[in-house]
Amino acid sequence: MRFISTRGNVGQIGFIDAFLMGLGNDGGLLVPAQIPVIEEATLKQWQNLTFQELMLEIFSYYTNGEIPEADLKQMVYASYGRFRDEEVTPVRKLKDGLFLLELFHGPTFAFKDIALQLMGELYSYVAKKDGRKIHILGATSGDTGASAIEGVKGKEGIKICILHPHQKVSKVQELQMTTVQEDNVLNLSVHGNFDDCQRIIKELFADVNYKTTNHLAAINSINFVRILAQTVYYFYAYFQLQKQGVSGKVDFSVPTGNFGDIFAGYLAKRMGLPVGKLILATNENNILERFVKEGIYKPGNFQSTYSPSMDIQVASNFERYLYYVLGENPEAVVSLMEGFKREGQIVVNGDTLRQVQEDFAAHGVVGEECLNTIRRYKEETGYLLDPHSACGVAAADQCEAGGVCVSLATAHPAKFDEAIRLCSIEQTFPEPIARLFDQPRRQIVVDGTQEAIVQELGRFFR
Ligand SMILES: *Cc1c(COP(=O)(O)O)cnc(C)c1O
Repeated sequence: MRFISTRGNVGQIGFIDAFLMGLGNDGGLLVPAQIPVIEEATLKQWQNLTFQELMLEIFSYYTNGEIPEADLKQMVYASYGRFRDEEVTPVRKLKDGLFLLELFHGPTFAFKDIALQLMGELYSYVAKKDGRKIHILGATSGDTGASAIEGVKGKEGIKICILHPHQKVSKVQELQMTTVQEDNVLNLSVHGNFDDCQRIIKELFADVNYKTTNHLAAINSINFVRILAQTVYYFYAYFQLQKQGVSGKVDFSVPTGNFGDIFAGYLAKRMGLPVGKLILATNENNILERFVKEGIYKPGNFQSTYSPSMDIQVASNFERYLYYVLGENPEAVVSLMEGFKREGQIVVNGDTLRQVQEDFAAHGVVGEECLNTIRRYKEETGYLLDPHSACGVAAADQCEAGGVCVSLATAHPAKFDEAIRLCSIEQTFPEPIARLFDQPRRQIVVDGTQEAIVQELGRFFR
């Protein structure tokens, strides 16, 4: 498989180059030149595979043999050997017609671990093999940072700098990032919100000269490999349901911020997985909900909510979907993205909007609905949802039209005790989280300007 850019100005590149490029050098996002379609007979053969085996099968369609099979296998097994559940991403029945896909059994208790454990291994592999310097630079609304740091701390040839919005991440998220003592890790706590962090990072990545001289590498979901790793659990969940006697198409409800996770679901569907609707769950930061309902993509006012990892207005991966819904036409993407920069909005209508509404349903959780959902499911089923997973479940309840739905549980409730306590529910922290509270912390608080960030990076990436 070769990779191209949504804006049409990156020549066809291979898997490792796409992994290292992160953001396309033309400012677009990398996508496979053609999405491989898995035949039904092959899907049947995959039914009984373990998560790890399934990942190796899916990756084989994309890696062009650039990584020897034995090496990739070793990396995959090392990545998921650190998970606390043997199934990696188990499926649990919540009630009739509604299942939860638990994605939080990795080291930092959120779904980001699934892609980032593997990407940590891959970066380390490339650093060793080519003697390359790898300087990872990322922005986080809380979970990506913790997970990426966990994936590469102490690894030779790799440095990682993570920007998070100052005092806008949960306590546990902050502790997971800042209690890491390895010298190859730098945490910048940035005055501003996640969109500010993401914008600064994107500007630095878009400056190809800066990017190359500083050996920058991306772990945000602008990186296609992250998306690809996440398609695996959509397939895995589908096969788990088949084993439980479910037949036909399955809907997925996805708590959404940067559109990365739900785009992975879209890719799985395009690869031939029998997915019905993708239900897009947001909180008050509902730009994507409005897009699905009205065809208008226009950032609103940023709001801090109970589900901080979804407090995002400008969704990086949205451009990937635009590319497909516009018929894989890079000129059309460029024109809409330029219009977005000029006018601050993108509008689609007619057949395009009909296609959007065919692909997605959407629900934005507002006000007390998030906490009420947590309380109600705790009472009715005994299951404690984290606030992000609760948005997914609330959206599934709202949008599901009688089919079978899998709602993605993207984090463990212990990461977001602030919201859980507001529900008057007491939880016991798992030991790896409990032990963070009395450890020393390391971070630098900086202004939310490109200048201030570049200055810190200059010292660190030397
Ligand atoms: C990152 C995150 C999301 C949103 O995922 P996107 O890929 O950005 O859409 C949802 N829930 C949790 C817990 C997260 O960490």
